[in-house]
Amino acid sequence: MTARTHGHRVIRLAAAAAAVVAVLPGVRAGEMSYAASHGRADYRAEHLLPGAAVTLVPPESVEPVIALTFDDGPDIHNDPALLAVLAEHKVPATFFVIGRNAHRYPALLKAISDAGHEIGNHTWDHTRLITQTAPEQAQEMARTARVLAREGITAQWFRPPYGSYDEKTGPLARAAGMDVVLWTVDSQDYRDRPPEVLEERVVNQLTPGAVVLMHSNHANTVTALPGIITRAQAAGYRFVTLAEWKSLMTRQTTVAQKP
Ligand SMILES: [Zn+2]
Repeated sequence: MTARTHGHRVIRLAAAAAAVVAVLPGVRAGEMSYAASHGRADYRAEHLLPGAAVTLVPPESVEPVIALTFDDGPDIHNDPALLAVLAEHKVPATFFVIGRNAHRYPALLKAISDAGHEIGNHTWDHTRLITQTAPEQAQEMARTARVLAREGITAQWFRPPYGSYDEKTGPLARAAGMDVVLWTVDSQDYRDRPPEVLEERVVNQLTPGAVVLMHSNHANTVTALPGIITRAQAAGYRFVTLAEWKSLMTRQTTVAQKP
């Protein structure tokens, strides 16, 4: 199925995903979880950018861009190799770092940022936010923001671990100057699969405007990445950071404030 014919099915998928959330074991009452819709998800802003005052450009108008995102670093074992692959192919990406890791590896954090990649906030210690009070969630964001600030980095994105958040998360992130962003393609690179399977899974799910969830802490990801990049580029896709993705993919829906 192409992106062009995907639209009407999206509504059914969304309804099915909502039903799954309602009954999925492990999803708690009040949790707004994206984990139930692993795989390709739709472009509805309320899924991808929950709570943001934007609409997404209609699929038929979307430029062939892809935002690669790498969560859970900085990872001392894999990120240097990831950076080398991205540099070789001149591909920018967005890294959602865990504050505790960034604190431990500030030089690696700086190297990622200096290479032109965008840095997002992925909490301090990868906690499941719905177990936390509002002040605790705010602290997860703020501690990480302070570590980033030491390297001159300001994150404009927050990604909740496991895609799991509750009604407190979005307002807290926005109060800290960040939008919550999830993904449309889950590479499922955390599964123990050969890199060829991972490459195939990602390439088969690419659509214009895709936001791809991958991870810094899996060697398979590094191995699969060159194939993913070259096949996507051969298909006419261009890679962008989430900041550029947002400028191409979204339109503000807030009414301009009167001066
Ligand atoms: Zn994560």
